[in-house]
Amino acid sequence: MAENRGVKVWLCPLDEYTFAYDVQVLADDATVGEYMDALDEFQAATLADCYGCDGCCHERVPLTWPDYFLAGQPGDPADWLMLVGELDFWGEAVDLTLRRKPNGACHLLDEDAKCCSAHQVRTFTCRTHCCLPKTDRAEALRAAVINAGEDELVRRMLAGAVRPWADRLAGVDAADYAPNGFTNAGADWRSARLAELVEPEQWAQIRE
Ligand code: SF4
Ligand code: SF4
Repeated sequence: MAENRGVKVWLCPLDEYTFAYDVQVLADDATVGEYMDALDEFQAATLADCYGCDGCCHERVPLTWPDYFLAGQPGDPADWLMLVGELDFWGEAVDLTLRRKPNGACHLLDEDAKCCSAHQVRTFTCRTHCCLPKTDRAEALRAAVINAGEDELVRRMLAGAVRPWADRLAGVDAADYAPNGFTNAGADWRSARLAELVEPEQWAQIRE
């Protein structure tokens, strides 16, 4: 089990044969930083290293607002996005993901060694992926934080002086990307409150 002031993560039986991890938010003002720290501690204590497996490095990896900082603020945000990101659409929703090679592998994957070439600066989505089934609320919390982080990145991209992929984004309404907890936190993204990233109806389940 890993626990801090705001978040607890532990291993629990999902059914007769399967383990999962569960997450409980312990404080109404728990933060994204506490969530990530608890997941890091849980993974370090519970899971084996990925060496020899690159299974999830061929999947879609949403980019989020924290990723610019986790990458060490490499230059202008718009230039960074164009370098590492891909733009797509889910219906009318903008989807910003980590760029993949034509064969579907993440552009940061060392395919020969089957390991991440950028482990120290990997994305929030990669860091919060535990190689285990999740309980419903663990799934809901991670999805909500990642979605809010991606929305904040889109919001800032649309509001920026330089708009990457300007032609393709011409029809996107910036009003669809309202400020969220990441907006208030700004560069101090770890201080973003989970309660401001999760829909109210999900929050009760995550807090219970
Ligand atoms: S987390 Fe991904 S890369 Fe690591 S062992 Fe699991 S599937 Fe493989
Ligand atoms: S950043 Fe690293 S861990 Fe994440 S998908 Fe790419 S290669 Fe895998």
